[in-house]
Amino acid sequence: MISSIKINPKRVLLKISGEALLGDVHYGIDPKVANTIIQDVANVVKAGIEVCLVIGGGNIFRGMTASARGIDRVHGDYAGMLATVINAVVLHNVFEDHSIKSCIMSAIEIPQIAENYVRDRAIGYIKQGRVIIFAGGIGNPYFTTDTAAALRAIEMKCDLMLKGTQVDGVYDSDPKKNPNAKRYDEITYSEALINGLSIMDATAFSLAQDNHLPMIVFNMHKEGNFEKVLLGNGVCTKVIASDSYQK
Ligand code: UDP
Repeated sequence: MISSIKINPKRVLLKISGEALLGDVHYGIDPKVANTIIQDVANVVKAGIEVCLVIGGGNIFRGMTASARGIDRVHGDYAGMLATVINAVVLHNVFEDHSIKSCIMSAIEIPQIAENYVRDRAIGYIKQGRVIIFAGGIGNPYFTTDTAAALRAIEMKCDLMLKGTQVDGVYDSDPKKNPNAKRYDEITYSEALINGLSIMDATAFSLAQDNHLPMIVFNMHKEGNFEKVLLGNGVCTKVIASDSYQK
């Protein structure tokens, strides 16, 4: 069987969760971590791959957590979307420090800080070699930035989406709790569903599966891993739609 994932993709979308920015801090952004992540992205851009990012906000605010504490879910979710904008502003600044051209496109109108997301304009920017940081999720409450990542990757015609996590890919059980947990090299979305593997939320999952968006899950906390995985040398799990297999 030959999988449909291109080892040397032309355009990719990297989903960075808010938690990935925490590093040694309990809230907000650890500048060391932000620097390492952006350096890794910069290396991939310099290697000629077009990159867009979707940034989460869980290091600052999550609507669902706030809702459990009595805040209206819709208001909590808007606060969560604004948290993604805060992260985007900081990452944009770190890109400038690395002399990489980037821009923020937001799903929520916030003109002093970011351009509104307009898909065709985003395509123009990425073709010019700019890294696009998509902020504000999809702009609606009751969604997550995983869904935003899958949606933007499809709209932007990315060859694949990458999800940076704290472990080396998708396992059959939590590798932090079970030392014998088995990592999958490659798995289909259907197999992940049947085996109850929580790769991302159900909306993101079905968007990716239905639109044959391949995904790579990898450890973003290993320096240089983003580029390695894209060049086919890194440890990761590839997730593909079942009908992407060519028999
Ligand atoms: N959010 C939302 N709509 C979106 C994306 C995000 O309402 O389209 C809110 C939601 O409250 C979520 C928060 O923003 O908890 C932060 O996003 P997420 O939890 O996906 O961030 P991550 O887990 O990736 O850090």
